[in-house]
Amino acid sequence: MKLENGSNEGVALDIEPTEEEFNKLQDAVSYLADLISDEIKLNKSALDEIVLKVGLDSHHDWIRNILERACPILERAHNDVHGVEKEIIITELERLGMKKFPAILTYDKAKPKPLSVEPKIIDFGCLKAGKEANATLKVTGGVVTEVSAGKRVKLTILKASDGSTLIKVIVSGSSAGDLFQDCIIIKGDKGEPLKVPVNVQWEKVIEKPIEKPIPIDNELPPISRCPNCDPKIHRKTLFYSKVRGRYRCSQCEHEFSYSDKKVREYNGIHP
Ligand SMILES: [Zn+2]
Repeated sequence: MKLENGSNEGVALDIEPTEEEFNKLQDAVSYLADLISDEIKLNKSALDEIVLKVGLDSHHDWIRNILERACPILERAHNDVHGVEKEIIITELERLGMKKFPAILTYDKAKPKPLSVEPKIIDFGCLKAGKEANATLKVTGGVVTEVSAGKRVKLTILKASDGSTLIKVIVSGSSAGDLFQDCIIIKGDKGEPLKVPVNVQWEKVIEKPIEKPIPIDNELPPISRCPNCDPKIHRKTLFYSKVRGRYRCSQCEHEFSYSDKKVREYNGIHP
């Protein structure tokens, strides 16, 4: 056990790792590869976080030492577009104490991630008329360079603390029964642009027919002539039923609405 100058807390102990502790370096380097893949700026606190995440603490200087040495190696993996350095890099990771298989996975992990978005589709379903629709998209795996959609869609780009990009999506409200479909296009610094379809519908308002009280006016008397029967029998057979709100012919049993045009016209001609 050696003594080493640590932080402003004074003297930190560099503990010799047990085998179990030493094996935590697989996870620690893998977390580091994740950060490098996302191109997150690495500083002292980012490394401290990894150390804590794998269940070690500031007394374990050896892990800090390994992570610091792993940084430039994983940076090279990140930029090794054609894989020409793959074998060398994996060997270097093994030399840090990693086992072969985790070293291969870590090499791949350090590579830039393709742009990806969640959710893949925005379906607002059916909204109340006039109601605005809003959602948030999360884009990971690269830098978003441009976001676009139709005029009706308002987009706001926010940078999240984890390196991802948040896109606030607002579709302005519309009239009842309207249907809106669009597509949000997200362009990144690499790869194909992503397309997120947007669907919104605004509830149809079912208009209740206004029930007009039937005017009992002088124009149509409660007993009238049936336009079907009267030409043959020449008498008034149409009786208005208050309960039904309609006329009913005692002869042909036909029912007419009280304001029926045919009845009105016939009775107009044949008082
Ligand atoms: Zn009749």
